[in-house]
Amino acid sequence: MTITKQQIVQWLETSADVFKDEQDFLTELDREIGDADHGLNMNRGFQKVKEKLPSVADKDIGTILKTTGMTLLSSIGGASGPLYGTFFIRNAASVMAKEELSLAELTKMLQDGMDGIVQRGKAEVGDKTMIDTWNGIMESLKQNQDASVYDALSIAVAEAESAMKNTIPMQARKGRASYLGERSIGHQDPGATSAYLLFTELRNASAL
Ligand code: ADP
Ligand code: MG
Ligand code: MG
Repeated sequence: MTITKQQIVQWLETSADVFKDEQDFLTELDREIGDADHGLNMNRGFQKVKEKLPSVADKDIGTILKTTGMTLLSSIGGASGPLYGTFFIRNAASVMAKEELSLAELTKMLQDGMDGIVQRGKAEVGDKTMIDTWNGIMESLKQNQDASVYDALSIAVAEAESAMKNTIPMQARKGRASYLGERSIGHQDPGATSAYLLFTELRNASAL
């Protein structure tokens, strides 16, 4: 069982739709502990990705992901542009020339992406960032390598949801929210939420 290039393209397309639908929700989360632009940032970036997709949809998975990363990097400002841009550019490295991915290959791809975010942003688990969600996802995927792609991703979606919610009681130690100190406690992190939404769309695409 694999995930195909068509499913990867589908993932990016439906993510663009979800970030459009959830723009206000993400921006409201960022209003509480940031500068009220996370929904705007994600929607702007992914609409550009959606525009670009037809021109690369027949290329290999690595090229599609790299193009996605470059597009996000150049179209989103703030912290999340470079971080999500890096995520996709690093994702691309191990899947160049591939038309489909096994669960092991998909897991490595996502791990490389998460490692790129950590190298760039220096956040650790528990700092109340998107890294908390990605860490929950990666821990789960590594424990379920014998499952089908869809089953492994579904179990990881549940872990991603818990990890996202676990950011609520945390005090932010990275990014804008960290300027609030203890006042950042009690709010769900916007980036942990967008990472959950993005990963959920990957699971959904794997079912098609
Ligand atoms: P900005 O804070 O520049 O306005 P966004 O609002 O788009 O950018 O994104 C904010 C999100 O970025 C946060 O909720 C957090 O999850 C994530 N983030 C911020 N700094 C870091 C970092 N150093 N490492 C990982 N994620 C980070
Ligand atoms: Mg912001
Ligand atoms: Mg901003």
